[in-house]
Amino acid sequence: MSLLELFRKRVTVARVYGIPVRIDYRWFVVVALSVWLIASNLQNHAIQVVNVRLPPLDPATAWLLGVITTAGLFLSVFGHELSHALMARAEGIEIDEIVLHPFGGLARLRSEPENPRAELRIAVAGPAASFLFAILAFGGTKVAALGDYVATVVVFFFLAWGNLLLAVFNLFPGYPLDGGRVLRAILWRKSGNINQATRMAGLCGLLVAAVVILFGVYIMIAPNWRPSEPYFMGIWSILVGLFLLDTAAKVVKGAQRAKQVTVGDAMSAPVSIAPELTIIQLIDDFLPLHRQTSFPVAINRQLHGILALEDLKALPRERWRLTRARDVMRPVAPRFFVEPSTTLDYARELMKRNGVGSLAVVNNHGELVGFLQSGRLRPRAGKKKRKL
Ligand SMILES: [Zn+2]
Repeated sequence: MSLLELFRKRVTVARVYGIPVRIDYRWFVVVALSVWLIASNLQNHAIQVVNVRLPPLDPATAWLLGVITTAGLFLSVFGHELSHALMARAEGIEIDEIVLHPFGGLARLRSEPENPRAELRIAVAGPAASFLFAILAFGGTKVAALGDYVATVVVFFFLAWGNLLLAVFNLFPGYPLDGGRVLRAILWRKSGNINQATRMAGLCGLLVAAVVILFGVYIMIAPNWRPSEPYFMGIWSILVGLFLLDTAAKVVKGAQRAKQVTVGDAMSAPVSIAPELTIIQLIDDFLPLHRQTSFPVAINRQLHGILALEDLKALPRERWRLTRARDVMRPVAPRFFVEPSTTLDYARELMKRNGVGSLAVVNNHGELVGFLQSGRLRPRAGKKKRKL
């Protein structure tokens, strides 16, 4: 294992609602930076918040507040991701993990949302949680100010702004940000085409990334307006922008690729059985040669139905001799066939739901030309390797 691989490794730190929470090693660097940045600010500058004034602090107090504030900020990021994850679960999607990485967090879902509405809900859940945390923290600031707990005021104040920033920044309309997912959901609903929507949202993501990078450069060189740590903030902004740029570029590429992969690329030659074939013939003569869990039933390339082996379970052995394929097959219906030009994504979804886990491929002359089985999708040899 190279040093670089070790560096990319993740540690599982907790399980929340059964979801593993993993931390990227680089994340610890960011935590240290955050503690240092907050502590050094509190140590060197007086801070004016609402109507309380915090004088420069002694090192021990400054570092302690740095640690507390940083812990609060990263719990906030975690709360944001957990909110996405729980909403996804409510939409019936399992969650593989929540990852905290140097640029924030990520709730990794096992599958894509099934429809635009689910996508929208999952996307909005994160920023909604962050807005809620911001409101609570602003409330905390006010309450602490009443009691004159100056240090507490400062911590709440940082947390309030941190969460507000998290919510607003995430709503920028570019994939992979939450706002980009919202945009994707809207475009998806309008066009009905998820790949096209993903591609558009990804392109907007490239644009947002460029703006974030330019903003970073601007902070560093602008003569008039400079935040307290211009170089740190500028470089940070550029790094976040580059991260977004990389992710958005992958999304755009992925969407283009998915658009091109069709059923025709992945289907195999059809092994069909005749409607008159008896079940005993199927089991004795046919099955040993063709290990499939379902077969298209056809005569002269005309599809009559799909026979699923699963449907034979209910059939008593003594009837195998008399029963024919046509008696137990599922008659032809739109959910059992597609055309070669159908996208593989669509076909895959259809297979998940049609009850037989396979699809006949029929050309526009109505002839059976191929067969697809989930779990056995092979792209035609000679084409580039694809994620299937
Ligand atoms: Zn989010």
